[in-house]
Amino acid sequence: MISVVVPIYNEEELISTFHAAVAVAMRDIGEEWEVVYVNDGSRDSSLELMKDLQRQDPHIVVVDLSRNWGHMGAISAGLRTARGEGVIVMDGDFQDPPAVLPELIAAWRGGAQVVVAVRRSRQEGRKLLALLFPIFYRVLSAISDYPIPLDAGIFGLLDRQALDSINGLREGNRYLPGLRAWVGYRNAIVYYDRQDRLAGDGKLSFISRIKYAMDAITSFSFKPLRFCFALSSVSMAAVIVLGLFALFAGGSAASIGLGISAAVFAVGAMLLLCLGIIGEYLGRVYDEVRSRPLSIINKVHYANEGIMAGTPDRIMEREPALALKGRAA
Ligand code: UDP
Ligand code: MG
Repeated sequence: MISVVVPIYNEEELISTFHAAVAVAMRDIGEEWEVVYVNDGSRDSSLELMKDLQRQDPHIVVVDLSRNWGHMGAISAGLRTARGEGVIVMDGDFQDPPAVLPELIAAWRGGAQVVVAVRRSRQEGRKLLALLFPIFYRVLSAISDYPIPLDAGIFGLLDRQALDSINGLREGNRYLPGLRAWVGYRNAIVYYDRQDRLAGDGKLSFISRIKYAMDAITSFSFKPLRFCFALSSVSMAAVIVLGLFALFAGGSAASIGLGISAAVFAVGAMLLLCLGIIGEYLGRVYDEVRSRPLSIINKVHYANEGIMAGTPDRIMEREPALALKGRAA
């Protein structure tokens, strides 16, 4: 079986069109398949629409989260619920085009355990984002302690073994494209042209994107911390140069005063920057120590078999046959 995991937050304009496109792409793959839609606390009619769709198409599983947990929380709930031997992750707004699904599956059948969809080009209505994305990927790859493919988001395929490795991680501040590279296994790349969102506005806030970018950097690099050392040597050098200068040169009282206050501000700025960097890591350490889950599932709606309350692990305890359905093959 192949699973497609799709996080959904307020996508009522798109869901039916999206599912139709996925169904067309999956029709001829010659294998059982399911689409796991994760309703991330939508406030519109998305959940009802998905349940309606499920009545017409039993390939659908609807995971309803207890509230809005954000993109990564929704994806991780979907990854825990998916029953496939190959599991695809994609956004539900056509930015990751359903037409590419057969290519991912072909690469997997060709022996790859992790298939990464890399953006050959990007259509992006939002100009600021279009500018920032490539910069972010390049900064990340420049400072990352582990090589992460450029221009790849969550879109891709994981086989059961790679997925279990990722599901087994206890890490809370997740950057999936990084972890997917980090777990290893045989990788393949499929290039695609990223589309603009088909309808509606982007659902991720700018702040949540910054948080995500910081997660990526802090979880794959200690270099920002080492940067503090570099700054301290700049400060030291300035002390020596200015000290020598002060020994041999005179100057008016006013210019000396200005010079001193500039130096005080410069040192203050450097210290605060370092504190901020340390804070980013420290906050995440605190987060990880509490080890709260990435998201909480309210109910899982399976076609024909009814509704299960709670997480797939609990469903596994009570109804192993159902949870494993399709996996045995
Ligand atoms: N999404 C989600 N929870 C959120 C925000 C977004 O599940 O809190 C879903 C959204 O419905 C979409 C995908 O995540 O399927 C990507 O979101 P969006 O298109 O807004 O992000 P962008 O493409 O702008 O980065
Ligand atoms: Mg999008």
